[in-house]
Amino acid sequence: MKTDIEISQEAALDPIAKVAEQLNLSEDDLELHGKYKAKIDVSAMNKIHQNKEGKLILVTSINPTPAGEGKSTITIGLGDALNRIGKKTVIALREPSLGPVMGIKGGATGGGYAQVLPMEDINLHFTGDMHAITTANNALSALLDNHLHQGNELGIDPRRVIWKRVLDLNDRELRHVTVGLGGPINGVPREDGFDITVASEIMAILCLSTDILDLKRRLANIVVAYTYQREPVTVGDLKVEGALALILKEAIKPNLVQTIYHTPAFVHGGPFANIAHGCNSILATQTALHCGDYTVTEAGFGADLGGEKFLDIKVPNLGKSPDLVVIVATIRALKMHGGIVKSELSAENLAALEKGFRNLAKHIANMKKYGLPVVVAINEFISDTQKEIELLKDLCEKEGVKVELASVWEKGPEGGEALAKTVVEIIEEENNRFRSIFSREDDTLQEKIETIVTEIYGGSGVVYSKKAQQQLETFKRYGWDRLPVCMAKTQYSLSDDPEKLGAPEEFTVTIREFVPKIGAGFIVALTGDVMTMPGLPKKPAALNMDVDKNGQAIGLF
Ligand code: ADP
Repeated sequence: MKTDIEISQEAALDPIAKVAEQLNLSEDDLELHGKYKAKIDVSAMNKIHQNKEGKLILVTSINPTPAGEGKSTITIGLGDALNRIGKKTVIALREPSLGPVMGIKGGATGGGYAQVLPMEDINLHFTGDMHAITTANNALSALLDNHLHQGNELGIDPRRVIWKRVLDLNDRELRHVTVGLGGPINGVPREDGFDITVASEIMAILCLSTDILDLKRRLANIVVAYTYQREPVTVGDLKVEGALALILKEAIKPNLVQTIYHTPAFVHGGPFANIAHGCNSILATQTALHCGDYTVTEAGFGADLGGEKFLDIKVPNLGKSPDLVVIVATIRALKMHGGIVKSELSAENLAALEKGFRNLAKHIANMKKYGLPVVVAINEFISDTQKEIELLKDLCEKEGVKVELASVWEKGPEGGEALAKTVVEIIEEENNRFRSIFSREDDTLQEKIETIVTEIYGGSGVVYSKKAQQQLETFKRYGWDRLPVCMAKTQYSLSDDPEKLGAPEEFTVTIREFVPKIGAGFIVALTGDVMTMPGLPKKPAALNMDVDKNGQAIGLF
């Protein structure tokens, strides 16, 4: 069996200008980053946005397990398969963060014969967007600390600075740090900390902005600290939104790459779905929508996290809802939800599959609450038995949902044809009947959280820590109490406890703390012990990585 990187290195890429021709874009519309990557020029984007808007397919999944689900693999494979059956299709994906790339085995460029290329570049520094975001974030930290050092005209309380520094790596040592030590000439001492870049509010802003002016407006709204009088201090108060937008002027442009089968793919922006909103940039999705008849995009982690945030946070900003949702499930992962340990997943186990199916059934029901047509894609693994596949199909049909086996990992576009045909059939038959799960857009934060916990997670209620309760009171005073909510929750369970697999019931979710992200336009609700700076595992993926004398990557998945 070939590894992902071996398959990717055998693929013959087209020059990116040729890929762009499929989108009616000329080389003048591109800003080339080498031969196989390009950014889309702003004037080209304006031109593209005059085109008719195509259909949008959202790929999401069951709660992930260590068995792997293959959401990106199916997203890419479905895009290739739609092109194979003659539908002009574009893919829109998130760009990977180096933190998980170096840490946990598995990149974000798909797998097997469903990959976006060049996978080494995309998984490493790509076109430099992550670095630009890191720099903009840390420039803000430096400018804020300089403000404190140079007389603190705004009266910022150094104990109430909430803006943290970031790094695009998993580095637990930096979660809590003290800065400004060494006496008066070295700044004002205060406690600080590092988050991973993909948790930066600037990443969320970049992904939600509709153009550079919207980006600048959102940057100005970021709350960085509070004064001694407990009033919020914004980037606008520091007067540095222009400088930050300038640092990001290239990063805001969508990146174009291709799949193994030359399907155009925009890979742009990558907030995590457990701590942020988990979707690629609005600009990438919009550009894709106006370039093709079909756009296939994905949201991070399961339908309870990335899926929910796509529908509740991204859709209102995008101004377009999906025409169909594909939920990816694997028989292996469902057996884990049914109580089987990883080492025993290769053996047939119909009882465990049926038990674990409850997780998938809950996600199907949830997506239907938004009025969206759903198709289940079974990402086929070699260990799946015929009986297991039949049982899973039966169970899905009993839930009244269409289901297709997808073998794109092993067979490429051909293995996704059945899924592609079903998806097209349903989209052509059904009208988009999207509806929000909230009673009103301006429901209070508590009302929105209650709806998400009871309707989507299947919980019985919400518990607020004392700190969270106090914050809710203060937020009312600041006028933030009716903003959208971005839940920060474990990806492994529908509940806030990663151990509760399947479809848990009768649980409450505890809101530990709120983090205002006023620039992004939402309030993050932290549950459980979700980390905004991950650590590395005992055997990080970095141990397998190398480079040969020709500069060729080795062991990158
Ligand atoms: P997700 O998007 O759910 O995180 P990916 O699509 O990135 O998952 O896939 C994660 C890993 O699993 C990749 O290394 C990929 O090669 C592998 N994988 C995906 N689908 C299959 C499959 N059907 N059989 C074997 N390995 C697979």
